[in-house]
This record gives sequence, C-alpha cells and structure tokens, in this order.
Amino acid sequence: MTPAPRPDAPVALALSPHLDDAVFSCGGTLARLAGAGWRVVVATLFAASVPDPTGFALACQTDKGLGPEVDYMALRRDEDAAALAALGAEPVWLPFREAPHRGYGSAPALFGAPLASDAIGPVLATAIGDLCRRWRPRLLLAPQAVGGHVDHVRAIEAIDGAAPGVPTAWWRDFPYVLRGQDPAEPFRDRFARLPPVEAALAPADREAKRSACRAYASQLGFQFGGPDGLDAMLERAGPTERFRGAALP
Ligand SMILES: [Zn+2]
Repeated sequence: MTPAPRPDAPVALALSPHLDDAVFSCGGTLARLAGAGWRVVVATLFAASVPDPTGFALACQTDKGLGPEVDYMALRRDEDAAALAALGAEPVWLPFREAPHRGYGSAPALFGAPLASDAIGPVLATAIGDLCRRWRPRLLLAPQAVGGHVDHVRAIEAIDGAAPGVPTAWWRDFPYVLRGQDPAEPFRDRFARLPPVEAALAPADREAKRSACRAYASQLGFQFGGPDGLDAMLERAGPTERFRGAALP
C-alpha cells in the first residue's frame, strides 16, 4: 500500500483520454512515481455520463453485456477509482462526452478523421489549462495517439492548444501499439523529434499495473478477450514503458 503523498509533494498529472488509457499505457510509471512520493493525479478527459444513449453509442455498452438501463460511464468511473487506488493515484473526471456521443457513428469513424462538427477542441483546451492551474503539475503524462482514436487525437490537439508549459512525457498507447505491424500514428513526425524516454519497471510496479488494469473489468473482454488476454498482452509489452519527451524522475 502506497502511503498518502505529503501535502508539498510534486504532482504528476496524467491526461487520459478515456477511463483506462493512462493505466494501460503507463500504469507502471504512475505506480513508480507514487512510490517515490509524488502525488499522482489521473484526469480522464472523456468521462461524462450520457443519459439514454441510442444507436452506436448504446451498442458500445450493450455489446459488453450492459443493458440500456446501466449508467455505463458511472460503472467505468468506479472501475477507474479502483484501478488508481491500486497504483496509489487519484482520479479526476472531466465532464466531456466520448466520441460516439459527438457524432462518430461507427467503429471505423472512431479511428478516422476528426469531424468538423466535433467542436470539443477549444473547451477541452480550456479545461486542461484549468487543470494545470489547479494542480500545478511538475510533470504531465499524455498520449501519442498511437492507433489514431479520434478522442486521443483531440486530446493532443487540446494539450497543444492549452500550451501548459509543463514538461510532458508522451506515452505509447497500449494496447494499440501492439496491434498489427504498423499501427496508425497521426502524430508520428511530431513525436519523432522528441527524445525517447524509457521507464524500466520494477516487478512490484509491474504487478501494481497488472492489478490496476484488471480493475477495468468492463473493457477486458472487448480489448483483450478477457483477463488472461490482458496478461498475455502485458507480457508482450514487457517490463519497459516507452515515452517521448520529458525525462522521468
Ligand atoms: Zn482511449
């Protein structure tokens, strides 16, 4: 059990598009920072409940065995709270809607070009600026949008728009980074210009990450075919988390 951080602890703020991305992609690093006395905050950008979803948005929960009466995002926020507790981190949930509720009406659309009608960018940038003023992070962690999910793309655009001026370590998005030979990387050139950073994980931090990932129970079947598939994917990812940008402490 990680002790609570001191009130004057430096803050690491992870900007996670969805409820699971930061933990899947760099949960071992988050555990390591918490263990080293940092206050680790994971802000999930697209965490809003949406009442009475329909169409593709509804299918995104019913295909996981969750009926229309279930508050799918509330369930996932509970999973996130449990996951972050396993890492010694704490959640913040922003009130923005995931892409299926912003006009992206199919699975391919989630990985296609952002829609001109999707005007989330400026409000998201303002919210990220507010987060940075509130938490005064010494380090940001954020996605590279490997895989090209439109919510990850919008997150990067918004971070750039907010220009928080905080050293940022940009993570390789798991599990997309292990899908196929050459996953989409819409920001490949931009991140190739930044120095590569590697975090070698101690066994305890890997185990904390595994426990945290398992807490996202509603996503495991869809993403990995179940908990065993998650374990296999984490094994393939190995003991190193890779980033571009700011050095890690
Ligand atoms: Zn995501």
